[in-house]
Amino acid sequence: MTLDDLRLRALECRDCGIAERRTNVVFGEGNPAAALVVVGEGPGDEEDKTGRPFVGRAGKMLDQALTDNGLSRQDVYICNTLKCRACDWESGKPRNRPPMPEEVANCRQWLVPQLAAIAPSVILCVGAPSAKNLIKPDFKITQERGKYFPCEFAKVAIATLHPAYVLRQSSGSYDGGYSLIVADVKRAWDCAQQLREKVGV
Ligand code: URA
Repeated sequence: MTLDDLRLRALECRDCGIAERRTNVVFGEGNPAAALVVVGEGPGDEEDKTGRPFVGRAGKMLDQALTDNGLSRQDVYICNTLKCRACDWESGKPRNRPPMPEEVANCRQWLVPQLAAIAPSVILCVGAPSAKNLIKPDFKITQERGKYFPCEFAKVAIATLHPAYVLRQSSGSYDGGYSLIVADVKRAWDCAQQLREKVGV
């Protein structure tokens, strides 16, 4: 199935509870022939409103990490573990929450064929839920980020800290781990380029 066909089908998905209150399905965007695919956690408020991945505060940080490596969003493909926003409504207002295992499992029906259609050399998992989904269930993000792992959906996968986490950690002169994201993007990109140029995969 082509990426466009898959997107059209995903836009209709109502297979779990988070579909009920979504504004938009956030399927993904970028270069459909990219050697590097970035897979985040799931849409937040801005992404839900616009239907585009990583366009809020965390997204601005991801954009900056790409720019600091001489890259733009068009050089990669960007998508998420969940295609709909996961949030709690207990206080009456929406509050982002981590994906639940059944939501992640359900959304694999879109993510897995999406990755198959793009066939990237490298996947950069942004945040622990993405790494647990695509690398291994017991992935430890602070200990194992920046390392290369085998992956079912690409030649190599590598994980980095989530920009939302880095935003929460940063204070004063401490960058919260932003420099690690920049370094991990570089490792992911360099690996993808080497695989494409030398091996053609
Ligand atoms: N965080 C994510 O993981 N993905 C987005 O698209 C936005 C914020």
